[in-house]
Amino acid sequence: MQKSACDSRPNLCGHTPVELAELFRERGEASWRSDQVFQWIHKKQIFDFGEMSNLGKGLREQLAGEFATMDLVAVRHAVSRISDCEKFLFRLSDGEHIESVWMDFGDRQTLCVSSQVGCAMGCSFCATATMGLKRHLQADEILQQVLYVQSLPGKDLRNIVFMGMGEPLHNFDEVDRAVRLLNDPLGMAIGARRITVSTSGLVPQIRRLADEGVPCRLAVSLNAVNDPLRGELMPINRKWGLDELFDACRYWTDKRKDRVTFEYILMDGVNDAEEDLKGLRSRLSRLPCKLNLIYYNPTDRGYRSSETRVYDRFFEALRNSPFAVTLRQNMGTDISAACGQLLVEESRG
Ligand code: SF4
Repeated sequence: MQKSACDSRPNLCGHTPVELAELFRERGEASWRSDQVFQWIHKKQIFDFGEMSNLGKGLREQLAGEFATMDLVAVRHAVSRISDCEKFLFRLSDGEHIESVWMDFGDRQTLCVSSQVGCAMGCSFCATATMGLKRHLQADEILQQVLYVQSLPGKDLRNIVFMGMGEPLHNFDEVDRAVRLLNDPLGMAIGARRITVSTSGLVPQIRRLADEGVPCRLAVSLNAVNDPLRGELMPINRKWGLDELFDACRYWTDKRKDRVTFEYILMDGVNDAEEDLKGLRSRLSRLPCKLNLIYYNPTDRGYRSSETRVYDRFFEALRNSPFAVTLRQNMGTDISAACGQLLVEESRG
């Protein structure tokens, strides 16, 4: 399921330095020219070949005729008035749309990127799920979200999280390529500890991510600690239940010597009871991990966020556990910052 039809020029943002060198060699250009182009795009966020001043005029014109660098168009940019959060709605070259969310947590600017147009996972609380899966993003389309935001005044991205539209591990190869490009020392050089790939629980792909040394950390969107409830909220759980999921997480922690981050959105009357709290403590105490309690940004899917006092109760009750707990501050409720929300609203006009 790849992008189709109206692509004109191939986009260079998804090419590795090695692939660029090959492309330049084929054109009779010195291969070190490719490093210059890679650095213009990835390190300096210069997308116009005409501005790549250390390339000859002829080469600049040739590249501009054959290749694109930035073909995302920001069609909407919403800035929160209540938190350091901005949301971008991008149009892709084939007319599809995706979202990215920028957040400033004080010590680190983070961009949450999309990995697919829509999503096939069908989580019952998620706005993106209502779209179904339209297509996977290519690596260049993932990279462009980062490069576009990084090029804006005042933006200095330190963290990238794959928690936007889509299930990243369902689009494994392109996400893998994008992560390696973000990590490349010639480009943005974002360290493996600053790139987080989040999954709803695709068990074989968690093991593959561990085996293939993809330079990232792992997050799991958990949201329930018993199989019937998790199966209701996240249908993927009917395929791979909690025991299999936690086995895969254990495989990750053993292989990568890194903890897993579990994300838990507290929803009123759904997953915020005393037995949920006990289940969380019991499950998460068994492996190196961290828990993020996340506020639910309301959608029209019939769920409500738990009250603040419930978040506080979970936080207080869990903070002396063997695992770390954080309470993620509420970001962007005024700009529809939940994954897929802006796009779903936009499509309704
Ligand atoms: S929560 Fe994530 S995995 Fe689930 S449907 Fe939404 S985008 Fe897909």
